[in-house]
Amino acid sequence: MNGLWDTERENIVSAYLSRHPNGRRDLIDNAFDLAVSSHQGQMRQSGEPYITHPIGVALNVARLGLDKESVAAALCHDTVEDCDTTLEDLTRLLGPEVARLVDGVTKLDRVKSSVAKSKQPAEAKAATLRKLLVAVAADVRVLIIKLCDRLHNVGSLDILPEAKAKRIAAETLEVYAPLAHRLGMSEIKWQLEDKSFAALHPERYQEIVSLVASRSPERDRRVAIAVDQVKKALHDAGISAEVDGRAKHYWSIYSKMTRRNKTFDEIFDLIGVRIIVEDIKDCYLSLGVAHAMYPPVPGRFKDYIAQPKFNSYAAIHSTVVGPEGRVVELQIRTAAMHLRAEVGIAAHWSYKGEGAAPTKEEPSWLTRLLDVHAETEDPDDFLAGVREDLASEEVVCFTPGGDCIAISLGAKPLDFAYAVHTQVGHSAVGAKVNGRLVPLSTVLKTGDTVEIITSKVEDPMPHPDWLSLVVTAKARSSIRARLQRDAKHESSENGRQELARALRNENMASAGLLESAELTGVASSLSLPDTEALLIAIGEGHVDPKAVAEKLRTLLEVSQGVRVILPDAPPTARSRRSRVVNEGLHAEGIADLQLHLAACCSPGPGDDVMGYITRGRGVSVHRDDCLNVPILLREKARCIDVEWTHQSKGSYLVEIEIEGIDRSGLLADVTRMVTDMGANIHSCKIVTDADLVAHQSYEIELADTDHLNRLLRAIRNIDGVYEARRGADDA
Ligand code: MN
Repeated sequence: MNGLWDTERENIVSAYLSRHPNGRRDLIDNAFDLAVSSHQGQMRQSGEPYITHPIGVALNVARLGLDKESVAAALCHDTVEDCDTTLEDLTRLLGPEVARLVDGVTKLDRVKSSVAKSKQPAEAKAATLRKLLVAVAADVRVLIIKLCDRLHNVGSLDILPEAKAKRIAAETLEVYAPLAHRLGMSEIKWQLEDKSFAALHPERYQEIVSLVASRSPERDRRVAIAVDQVKKALHDAGISAEVDGRAKHYWSIYSKMTRRNKTFDEIFDLIGVRIIVEDIKDCYLSLGVAHAMYPPVPGRFKDYIAQPKFNSYAAIHSTVVGPEGRVVELQIRTAAMHLRAEVGIAAHWSYKGEGAAPTKEEPSWLTRLLDVHAETEDPDDFLAGVREDLASEEVVCFTPGGDCIAISLGAKPLDFAYAVHTQVGHSAVGAKVNGRLVPLSTVLKTGDTVEIITSKVEDPMPHPDWLSLVVTAKARSSIRARLQRDAKHESSENGRQELARALRNENMASAGLLESAELTGVASSLSLPDTEALLIAIGEGHVDPKAVAEKLRTLLEVSQGVRVILPDAPPTARSRRSRVVNEGLHAEGIADLQLHLAACCSPGPGDDVMGYITRGRGVSVHRDDCLNVPILLREKARCIDVEWTHQSKGSYLVEIEIEGIDRSGLLADVTRMVTDMGANIHSCKIVTDADLVAHQSYEIELADTDHLNRLLRAIRNIDGVYEARRGADDA
């Protein structure tokens, strides 16, 4: 036993016992010992031992009449977050119920810090926080302990740096006081408000305090007269009642002045008299007595007994014209209603009495509030809030690290995994909820701690079945995108293989070509953004790989000036300057086949070469050291000897010039036309000037002038081309 804190210990125990006369103190004693030893050596910012804080919180909780588990949890509420104590320790020493309550309070703090980190505007943050606190606190005792925690903290704001004190005060006014109001805990509410008010607006607070002090004697005198008159009248009517005046609270005066634009005197002149009787019958009898002596103000009578307010508040309110013609606000209620009005939902535990079943499973406490007041149209703020919470489309879950994640109702561990990070989702293989392995199809509940087990596989793939399992849009779109990316990847691989095959058939090696600028050119001529898109289009069967290979070949001939020789072209009429191709090739024993130089190795005169009989495009000629030759040699029957010859072969090189409006695909169209017309491009030069006029000049190999004229006419018909003529050299 730590004798040092025995006075405080006894204060808490007696506060508890006064509301639970048959209660047992051992749980509270054990919790007290654990809290003292856990916080041993820790100090508050005020310099006091830290233990004074949980003691203060527990005292508030006990005074509200909560059960011994709540008092014990209040004593230990900071031990898990701030000390070495674990939830397991708490479960072992104080039982699972206390541990659960402490865990709940700890989680509320995490909700708070994660909302604080979010990028929402301040006002939305307060609303979000309020909602989340209610949603996460599955047990209302957790919220009550939290409110008592906050109440104790706002009691020592003056020792904090001003900015921090103001931040906490503002948060208390925006979040915690409204929560207390929602729970019907008016006593806690006004204490939170007045303490925060003092820290947030010290000058205004002082002003209200001094106004109250200066007007109080006169007001007190009038209150006393009214109280005496009412007491006497009730006594004469045979009703036993407690009658007293009601205090006004600083924050409520201030907020009425600012929000309802009233003067201090208008508010302060109103005096309130409270009548507390034994039962409901006496409430109505008292009302009759009061109305008989003071005329009621029309329209100011409210029966919250027949129709309670949404937070379980019950009373009869009436405004009457009292002594000296002054307006008096009357409140009439039973003792039980009075307790409820002061401590709100907390009164629940006092009514049960000791020995009643613990209320740990009370997830429906909000529902109960709502059921009772479903028909109540309260212009006040929180019915809508309560409804929203209950109909919430979200649950709030925690990562093992304590971050909280709000996620759609019905969400499963997979949704949670994708909400954490897309990669976590893709690599999910299992999940633990609250430390227990569960199927990925488990529906998550608010307050669950979710741990995702991930595989170590590189570049993991979601299972297609997951699409029907998840409920969040984020998870669904991530899975779909990943699967599509994989399908694209497969199409692209297929396309790559098909194009490689087509290129081989064209006697072109795929190796360098698949990354070439020319292939990009082919892609853009098909209005595809890049080579990858082209490969996917081939793989998906939208584009014929053979056509691509042919286009590629054409472009390569343009850009690399590959010469294509027509060994057996007929002799032609020749212009003065046409040049006979001198270089030639001879394939042993094969006269009728076209020979062409392979693009992969671009053989030149003098190189050692070999020929390969293609399917349908004659003989391709490769350098002996070409990388493709070993592959070609697998089909020995198609391989033939080829030699360079110095014998003249009859075809002509002609230069033509083309002018046109530059557009994408113009080059491709021209080269295709040339090829389609049976001519070959020997070389070309392309210039585009500032006016977007394309000047292209080609050295073309063709048979004769007729052939040339037909080609020029055809080129002029290409969109954008407005001039095609024989080059100046050839004029
Ligand atoms: Mn605390």
